[in-house]
Amino acid sequence: MDSHEFSIRGKEMIEYICKYLDNLESRRVTPSVEPGYLKNVLPDEAPDDAEDWDRIMADVEQKIMPGVTHWQHPRFHAYFPSGNSFPSILGDMLSAAIGCIGFSWAAAPACTELETIVLDWFGKAIGLPDEFLALKEGSKGGGVIQTSASECVLVCMLAARAQALKRLKHQHPFVEEGLLLSKLMAYCSKEAHSCVEKSAMICFVKLRILEPDEKSSLRGQHLLAAMEEDEAMGLIPFFVSTTLGTTGCCSFDNLQEIGPICQKFPCVWLHVDAAYAGNAMICPELKYLLAGVEYADSFNTNPNKWLLVNFDCSTMWVRDKIRLTSALVVDPLYLQHGYTDSAIDYRHWGVPLSRRFRSLKLWFVLRSYGIKGIQNYIRHHINLAKRFESHVRKDRRFEVCNDVFLGLVCFRLKGSDELNKKLLSNINASGKIHMVPATVREKYIIRFCVVAQNSTKDDIDYAWKVIIEFAEDLLETQEL
Ligand code: PLP
Repeated sequence: MDSHEFSIRGKEMIEYICKYLDNLESRRVTPSVEPGYLKNVLPDEAPDDAEDWDRIMADVEQKIMPGVTHWQHPRFHAYFPSGNSFPSILGDMLSAAIGCIGFSWAAAPACTELETIVLDWFGKAIGLPDEFLALKEGSKGGGVIQTSASECVLVCMLAARAQALKRLKHQHPFVEEGLLLSKLMAYCSKEAHSCVEKSAMICFVKLRILEPDEKSSLRGQHLLAAMEEDEAMGLIPFFVSTTLGTTGCCSFDNLQEIGPICQKFPCVWLHVDAAYAGNAMICPELKYLLAGVEYADSFNTNPNKWLLVNFDCSTMWVRDKIRLTSALVVDPLYLQHGYTDSAIDYRHWGVPLSRRFRSLKLWFVLRSYGIKGIQNYIRHHINLAKRFESHVRKDRRFEVCNDVFLGLVCFRLKGSDELNKKLLSNINASGKIHMVPATVREKYIIRFCVVAQNSTKDDIDYAWKVIIEFAEDLLETQEL
């Protein structure tokens, strides 16, 4: 394909994308296919000869689309949002075209510098303390874009582990490192995302998973008791992962209590995972949810969840970049350059070497919506969630199971877990709307999240109508 044909095919692709997004409602939210469906309709081997573009695109519509779960569909209410917007898509397009690999400043100066600037912009907008901003006078911190929240938690745990081992090796120079490692203990709440458990597995450290309170919030005294108990047994607390906006029910750990407790211990790294909720703090009236962040060593939120930015774009900030990078620096000659001392090399801030120009799409979104435009978008989603919550509260057969601060409502039919499992599986099988379950305080609940970029009141009312229809059918058959 040369640039002339690309220009034609590119315009066609934009048309296809616009039609796809504008007409999502004509498709089922979830596909009706069985595992292996695609191998039955695609050849076993790649073609020897070049194929015609029209044939390839025909296969997209006829073979790929039937197996797509449409995350941007107005009836998709599962998980958390998968961010999307036209400025972001254009940013990704340009990034693909530039095709630079921004592992060091020298390898891609604009890619590196825009990332630093945009992370400062966004960090300021959500109200992070100045210590997290790279370009503030005297700051030791800064921000970086990672692929996922899981990766943010992992690299922070790796940094915390390196910091703890360094201190322990200094104190016990003749003790074998493996023994010191076996003493390290990380903490999180039962409501934390499973990525914390996975990070602990990768880091070969112990993880103590603590019970949250009746509001699904991890409390300071409970953490303190666990840390003291572990210390008394010869273990060494080194990492606490807290969550603002948990995956199951969007609850908030009590950072104001947890922060001072972490500081009582000589070498504990406090991480804040706000993968979904952190974006909402761009609204002044929601900044109170960030209380206690001044104690944090690191913080992450995913613009690719709730900030109109396409996957991947997970933003992470640290209070002290040297404490992060000292766990991750490997410096072969072929990656070195003359500005190492005066510039950021993001290859030291994460696991992969190669990095795409992801700040472009975040920059495009921040500029083309403006902070006010994004605030309005977040507020609109919250208002829709409140609308759904009020539907549930008005119906005595149902109960709301979380405090609805943001765009997630957890609810259930009053009755057994089995009843609710059946309700959800019937609804999902219909392909009319899509939701996923979670367990909150030992009960099976259904999560309803406002997800689609342009969700309307009608979409919310439609979803409630579908839920009621299926619930009534189910309750009737139960009575028979
Ligand atoms: N942390 C929280 C609070 C989440 O809700 C999620 C996913 O929804 C994750 C981490 C994992 O995110 P990612 O897929 O970016 O690794």
